[in-house]
Amino acid sequence: MDNFTLLATINVILFVNVIFTIIITRQLIDFGAAEWLSASLLVAAGFFLLLLQRFLSPFFTILIANYMVLLGSLLQVSAALILEFKRKVVKRFILPAVSAVYWILFLIFTYVSFNTSIRIIIISIALALFYGYGVFLFLRLRRIDAEDPPDTAELFVLFSIAAVYYLARTFMTISGAGAVKSLFDANLTTTITFAFLLIFNMVYLIGMLNGSLRYKNKIVIKEREKLGSLFGFLNDTAKHLELEDLYTTIGETLKTTIGMDSAAIYLLDESRESYSIAHSFNELDIPLDAVQTLSKGEGISGAAIEQDRVIVADIDSYPNEQVRRVVKAKGVKSLIGIPLKTPDGIIGSITVVFTSTEKLRLFDNDFFYFLGEQIGLVLHNAYLYKKVADMANTDPLTKLFNRRRMLELIEYEVKRFGRTESIFSIAMADLDHFKNVNDTLGHKCGDDLLKAAADIFKSESRASDFICRWGGEEFLFLLIDTKLNDAVTVVDRMRKKLELHSCECASGLSTTVSIGVAEFGRGMSADEIITRADNALYTAKRRGRNRIETI
Ligand code: GH3
Ligand code: MG
Ligand code: MG
Repeated sequence: MDNFTLLATINVILFVNVIFTIIITRQLIDFGAAEWLSASLLVAAGFFLLLLQRFLSPFFTILIANYMVLLGSLLQVSAALILEFKRKVVKRFILPAVSAVYWILFLIFTYVSFNTSIRIIIISIALALFYGYGVFLFLRLRRIDAEDPPDTAELFVLFSIAAVYYLARTFMTISGAGAVKSLFDANLTTTITFAFLLIFNMVYLIGMLNGSLRYKNKIVIKEREKLGSLFGFLNDTAKHLELEDLYTTIGETLKTTIGMDSAAIYLLDESRESYSIAHSFNELDIPLDAVQTLSKGEGISGAAIEQDRVIVADIDSYPNEQVRRVVKAKGVKSLIGIPLKTPDGIIGSITVVFTSTEKLRLFDNDFFYFLGEQIGLVLHNAYLYKKVADMANTDPLTKLFNRRRMLELIEYEVKRFGRTESIFSIAMADLDHFKNVNDTLGHKCGDDLLKAAADIFKSESRASDFICRWGGEEFLFLLIDTKLNDAVTVVDRMRKKLELHSCECASGLSTTVSIGVAEFGRGMSADEIITRADNALYTAKRRGRNRIETI
């Protein structure tokens, strides 16, 4: 086949290549489409000009044709890099710089001193440099994001081969082994070059097609994972109405769905002027003191709440210098603030920190926002549930537990005793001559006294003690890990405190209380221990009131 026929064949194939490229870029590719299409048009047009060389001014056509092929190759590299990294990575000045160098050198070696070999050397070196530069950028940028397999690996293998090929061609031309006088002379070097270009463009088409399909596939898989984990989350949270369980589930979900390293749930305070951490998942052990409570709009979480949108920030741009230093020292690279939405508005936000930017790139802000809505909703439900549950468990006047809740707690302790023999005591208290208070000072004053007594009992008890309003002016204490003697000490302190207290409405009159105490013993039931305490109380009443009796 003579070179003209070969060139004509290449033209047909490159034309078909352009058509394929148009179809693919219109339907499939999200990144580098313009570059790819321009590249294939330029290469095809360049080769068409070479074909027309016979009929036009050869120097002029060669100048333009080579320039087109050169630019086409640069754009091919650029398109592949954009597809791989989903952003432009080739510097903006390269195109004009290459064009300027090309035109200066080509004009010198065409019009000032005619030299085909030097022109071939220039173009071959330029092509070797482009492809080499592309491979260099691919390898350098890939090292950073090694977690995600490349979409376009074969394109960069192709570019490596092309770089080696053009270097070889440069050396052959310099050594004179592959010297070419005219494109249309039958010579092996030109045939090989044409054949190489043809194969190159075909493989390039397949490589770009594969790259975009791989990318699309990853997106589909990601979407599916996102949906899967969201459904999982909704399913898990539906089982939990208790806040602590729910926090655990939210933490697990954040870990499996978005790969968080640490996170904190902030809730707006009642004033809505500040917000504080309600729960944290602090696997990185970040000191949270400085960010425990923040004022309106402060930090990433504040911005997310105020602006009702997802805020993504690089740790280097975090405004608070002290926080930035501490958090950075833990390896954190980026943070994200997600508003927590409920049907009643924003209740807070979640700040999530990541030690890798890779995980963050997997999801878009819409997804995070949606996640915030789901978490906000389940938290909202859990808070409502807690409110209702608290209402069912507390006495409205004194805010102490009610009898129903206390019975549950005692039953629980009785069972626990069966397993671990952990001791506990029960004290039954009854205000003395309370009927008189109501009769002489009025019911309202009676209520105030009941509230005051409840407050005194609460303030004199320990965190592990439970107190309830058993009924009327009777109170029951459940003292965990407390022996009889210690229980007496505790309740006697309460008795003395109450005796010293006087209510405004009671004008200096003191209230006293009688208390019966019993320690739980093996084989007793909840009813039995309560009855024992009640009997001891009865004895206290009988023996003159304002005193403690045990059984
Ligand atoms: P003592 O226990 O010392 O034997 O005499 P007491 O007068 O306290 O005895 P009793 O149990 O007969 O009377 C309890 C009184 O407590 C009856 C009622 O007037 C009053 N009381 C019960 N519940 C409430 C309440 O919720 N508010 C007010 N103001 N009074 C209450
Ligand atoms: Mg009573
Ligand atoms: Mg009484």
